[in-house]
Amino acid sequence: MPELPEVTSLARQMDRELRGRRITDVDVVQPRCLNVPPEEFRQLLVRTQVTRVTSRGKWIFVDLEPRTTFLLNLGMGGEVLFHRRDEPLPRNRQSTILFEDGTAFSQHFWWFGYVHAVKTTELASHAMTSSLGLDPLDDGEFTLDAFEELLEEKKRSTIKTVLLDQKNIAGIGNVYIQDILFTAGVHPLRKTSDVTVSERSLLYDAIRSQLRNALELGGLAYEKDLYNKPGRFKDFLVGYREGKPCPVCGTIVQKIRTGSTVSFICPHCQT
Ligand SMILES: [Zn+2]
Repeated sequence: MPELPEVTSLARQMDRELRGRRITDVDVVQPRCLNVPPEEFRQLLVRTQVTRVTSRGKWIFVDLEPRTTFLLNLGMGGEVLFHRRDEPLPRNRQSTILFEDGTAFSQHFWWFGYVHAVKTTELASHAMTSSLGLDPLDDGEFTLDAFEELLEEKKRSTIKTVLLDQKNIAGIGNVYIQDILFTAGVHPLRKTSDVTVSERSLLYDAIRSQLRNALELGGLAYEKDLYNKPGRFKDFLVGYREGKPCPVCGTIVQKIRTGSTVSFICPHCQT
């Protein structure tokens, strides 16, 4: 499932590749992914021009002139691909955007994703993106103070639940959370109010370094980028290493259920 590093990488590639391109047509194969009827979706996008592509958490924002924002969320994962002129489009695509110069941009979701179009003036009332929490890679926004304030506010929940809630911090999912908790030595089921001051600071540093490192490597090795190339991040500490020794103490890594998610932990290092 793509998380902040994969989504940010993709948005950066899209910004470089799509900026300036004019949309001439939209081909919707799967209307269930849209927020409006296909005809309205088409009207919002056709004859606009891409001015900028950014991301927040797991959402990609494509600014279009005049007055439209195209929003994309890959859900559990998928392929979001750029196609040169005359290149065949993937058969399994759920929607495609066609540009004036013959290039195209297609989306295919493995399970379910969102392809939304909103008037930019109404972006603030798009519920799924307007409720997104702190951007963990924005130094001005995601400060240690802001993080501590958040943990204080949510002190009754378990720490993993707090960190995964997109309304609190946007972009951490069940992949990167594993090594973030391990690096800070915190068990996923720990009650947030019991996380000490020094552990809070370790968690804050771990969130930033884990996500930054994965972003530098272009995201996960099993996720694909705009050109269908995989990322290079694959070296987890305890994540997905069930039955293998902990890199710090050698204790066997366990896979446990934590509410609706699974967690990989070192039972010795994480308490
Ligand atoms: Zn250990």
